[in-house]
Amino acid sequence: MTTGITGETEPGFRASVDLMFNRAVRLMDLSPGLEQKIRVCNSTYTVRFGVRLRGKIETFTGYRSVHSEHMEPVKVGIRFSLDVSQDEVEALAALMTYKCALVETPFGGSKGGLCVDPRAWDEHEMEQITRRFAYELIKRDLIHPAQNVPAPDMGTGEREMAWIADQYARMNTTDINAKACVTGKPPHAGGIRGRVEATGRGVQFALREFFRHPVDVARAGLSGGLGGKRVVVQGLGNVGWHAGRFLSQEDGCKVIAIAERDGGLVDDSGLNVDEVRDWIAQHGGVKGFPGATYVEDGASLLEAECDILIPAALEGVIHRGNAERIRAPLIIEAANGPVTFGADEILRKRGRLIIPDMYANAGGVTVSYFEWVKNLSHIRFGRMQRRAEEGRSRLLVEELERLSADRGLGWSLAEDFKEKFLQGSDELALVRSGLDDTMRTAYQSMREVWHGREDVEDLRTAAYIVAIERVAKTYRSKGI
Ligand code: NAD
Repeated sequence: MTTGITGETEPGFRASVDLMFNRAVRLMDLSPGLEQKIRVCNSTYTVRFGVRLRGKIETFTGYRSVHSEHMEPVKVGIRFSLDVSQDEVEALAALMTYKCALVETPFGGSKGGLCVDPRAWDEHEMEQITRRFAYELIKRDLIHPAQNVPAPDMGTGEREMAWIADQYARMNTTDINAKACVTGKPPHAGGIRGRVEATGRGVQFALREFFRHPVDVARAGLSGGLGGKRVVVQGLGNVGWHAGRFLSQEDGCKVIAIAERDGGLVDDSGLNVDEVRDWIAQHGGVKGFPGATYVEDGASLLEAECDILIPAALEGVIHRGNAERIRAPLIIEAANGPVTFGADEILRKRGRLIIPDMYANAGGVTVSYFEWVKNLSHIRFGRMQRRAEEGRSRLLVEELERLSADRGLGWSLAEDFKEKFLQGSDELALVRSGLDDTMRTAYQSMREVWHGREDVEDLRTAAYIVAIERVAKTYRSKGI
């Protein structure tokens, strides 16, 4: 149990995931043994290690938790934060199992975390800490291309993943698949284009798919398309920034408020997300950003009047203490676990619609999957087909132009159409296409259960049912 800012006691993150799991399995026909097998976290490894920094030995605590190995390798996320705990890591590992099943990536669920404040150490020190943590996990096969493949999460990014990949390669000099031991690497170090933006891009694709279904949009009490919708984002990190910039720059949404650690910004005419992000990078927070109203209590912006609320920072920010005051009709959980179990019950009763984390932020693991496949196949996506595709398109354009000239029809194709049509798909285009397809297909599988069964009232329960059924199928076919 944890005590929220209001003093109210709520189940912790791990218990919240369990309760959501329970709500779904009550509606399913699973044997109690199988239900328990799927629920439990298989193992959690705790490591404590010392690193000599600034003239003394600093001790760090880290975790790598494996929730389910019904498919291997297990995936994903390594988080660097002072709030990391066993409870949190196990909850995130469980969520990962269900997420991978929902978006059909062939992985089990896992999570890693290190109790460290990345802002308290310089780059060289962070490299020493990361490499030492990776060393501890690699020597126990808790990082391995066939068994356990981490990816970035809160407080980690391309830089840390490149260090981990290099550490693995140093310790496994003959492993031809060494690069596949971790995803989220920079493209020059075996990464894939589109991975950094993937989770935010996935949030955008999820919302686009949601708005393709007027019946669902109406259930949230909204109407029309994405264009013009007023959005509030909490956390302008990797996920929140990308989601905010794509929605405002490509879909015509207005980001009217941004909540960050040090407070929040409000501008009813729409904030420029890139400028706010640059301001944070230069000044360490949002305070002082010109042209917007600064609010000291950033969390209060979760309660702002808007169409879409995107919590993209951390878990448990919408809890029993503030759920009654949330005004957004549609909440998309870009972060993992931003809505507690208690808040979820309140919001559902109040008719608020939640697009659950398991689906909403699955873009990261989806593109990680593409990166892993790329590493194992040792070739960039599109390298073989791109020019062949261009050649075929060119033939068609030339033939159309020849026919037009021969018959004196005077037709000509617009130059910008020709430019787009003649472009073969490069890696980034293919990654975005694969992600879009994944997000559409996964939404449709949730939706089928949501609309198809009278006892399923919400998308979260539907997502759990789809995911648990898929995990159960794998266990059954293994004879467990
Ligand atoms: P990040 O570290 O890049 O960004 C987090 C942002 O939240 C930072 O800007 C930070 O300043 C801000 N923040 C922290 N505490 C806050 C608070 N109390 N109020 C407001 N803002 C606060 O992390 P990220 O990778 O963007 O991850 C964010 C969430 O998305 C996490 O829950 C993570 O598990 C989830 N997620 C991330 C990925 C990914 O690919 N990075 C994938 C799936 C899920």
